[in-house]
Amino acid sequence: MIEVIEPATEQVMAEVPEAGIDEVDAAVAAAKKAQPAWRAMAPADRAALMHRLADALGDELEALSRLEARNAGKPIANARGEIGMAVETFRYYAAGPERLTGKTIPVAGGIDMTFREPLGVIGLITPWNFPMTIASWKVAPALAAGNSVVLKPAALTPLSAIEMERIALEAGLPEGVLNVVPGPGSVCGQRLVEHPDVAKIAFTGSTEVGRSIARGAAETIKRVTLELGGKSANVVFADADLAEAAAAAPFAVFDNAGQDCCARSRILVERPAVEEFMAELEKTISAMRVGDPLDEATQMGPLISADHRDTVASFVPEDAPVAIRGSAPDGPGYWFPPTVLSPMSNDDRAAREEIFGPVAVVIPFDGEQEAVELANDTIYGLSGSVWTGDGSRALRMARAIETGVLSINSNSSVRVSTPFGGFKQSGVGRELGPDALEHYTEVKNVYYAVGEG
Ligand code: NAP
Ligand code: MG
Repeated sequence: MIEVIEPATEQVMAEVPEAGIDEVDAAVAAAKKAQPAWRAMAPADRAALMHRLADALGDELEALSRLEARNAGKPIANARGEIGMAVETFRYYAAGPERLTGKTIPVAGGIDMTFREPLGVIGLITPWNFPMTIASWKVAPALAAGNSVVLKPAALTPLSAIEMERIALEAGLPEGVLNVVPGPGSVCGQRLVEHPDVAKIAFTGSTEVGRSIARGAAETIKRVTLELGGKSANVVFADADLAEAAAAAPFAVFDNAGQDCCARSRILVERPAVEEFMAELEKTISAMRVGDPLDEATQMGPLISADHRDTVASFVPEDAPVAIRGSAPDGPGYWFPPTVLSPMSNDDRAAREEIFGPVAVVIPFDGEQEAVELANDTIYGLSGSVWTGDGSRALRMARAIETGVLSINSNSSVRVSTPFGGFKQSGVGRELGPDALEHYTEVKNVYYAVGEG
């Protein structure tokens, strides 16, 4: 059994059976068996089932939100937003079965047409930070395209995925189309990567594990999409509305206690604005409510585990230049206060590595060119923001920053209908929007010779 710990209390909140290689193999066999009928189902019927699943998840939104809030240690208000997005994602992709079309292409002597074919069985491997939301980003487009799936949630947060499977079966999804195998990544995840009957792996997690998945997938030439780490920049120019930027900046790092691949954890501030920006930042951070995830007023919860808290703490040694430190409850619970290190250089370890905790660094810069150089001086390229009152500058920056997702005068990174994913070592492929649907298909080209007549 896996003991599931509630990070705000350090208590066991559930025990779930731990899958091993045999269970993964059984799940893949079930998925393989179910896929041909799922694929053959009339598109409108598949769409209707996906809408029923969305309805059923929506009906249980409050219970699922509380479960996710407790298991992942996230504020209940955020958890509701995340489960709401999972519902929206199933609705968005419910249109997929009827919209996924091919082309006809003019050629000599015949008719040429393309089809978007499902891949077969897809292995989905997800992290603990946004468990149900990220699962929905993969499950929904994969199913819409006519695949069946085996989902391996993170062992720390398996509960919402198990609920998703139950709700899907109750909503009428045929058995074997969606299978969940809670178990360790090094066993269950790796088996999915190696399994000859799994056509593709869609993974979200660390860049380190992403590398090992890419290597493992090479053996069977599996398709792979990867959503990996980030070290994104929040670029604040002196001509920005500094109060607005400073009120938003903390939530670009401390939302989900910094356990967010999109965290804008490098705050680059134009030198003349540093003093005013820091003063505003301090005001916002000192008012932040850190505590019980189930309290409606809470803005930040605990970290996911004691191990992870140790890792985060290693980025704030005794001699670190702590400029701002917010509050955090005393134990039990894996608490860590919102922390801002300033001034920092982009070469410091805390500016180079993904911390995945509530620790931001402030790096001063002089002028647009240096801002671009600093923003791009990282192995990652996932998200980012630019704050400026100059529209032309905003667009110059948007073109120059090497990143998959950028927002101007905003922290917003994900919307169901727009592509999300990384440049450089932040990943391969895109989730959400129309792009994701195509990533769960293979293009088939058919030529039909029609002769002279
Ligand atoms: P992780 O350690 O990479 O784990 C992610 C998933 O991979 C878990 O289900 C894990 O299983 C599994 N796994 C571990 N080793 C494996 C192996 N050898 N083969 C196959 N699967 C394996 O990431 P995490 O600690 O859960 O999450 C934090 C990371 O995710 C951060 O780097 C963050 O940036 C990234 N992330 C990226 C995005 C994005 O969209 N780009 C979104 C969220 C998070 P177990 O944990 O159960 O062992
Ligand atoms: Mg991990």
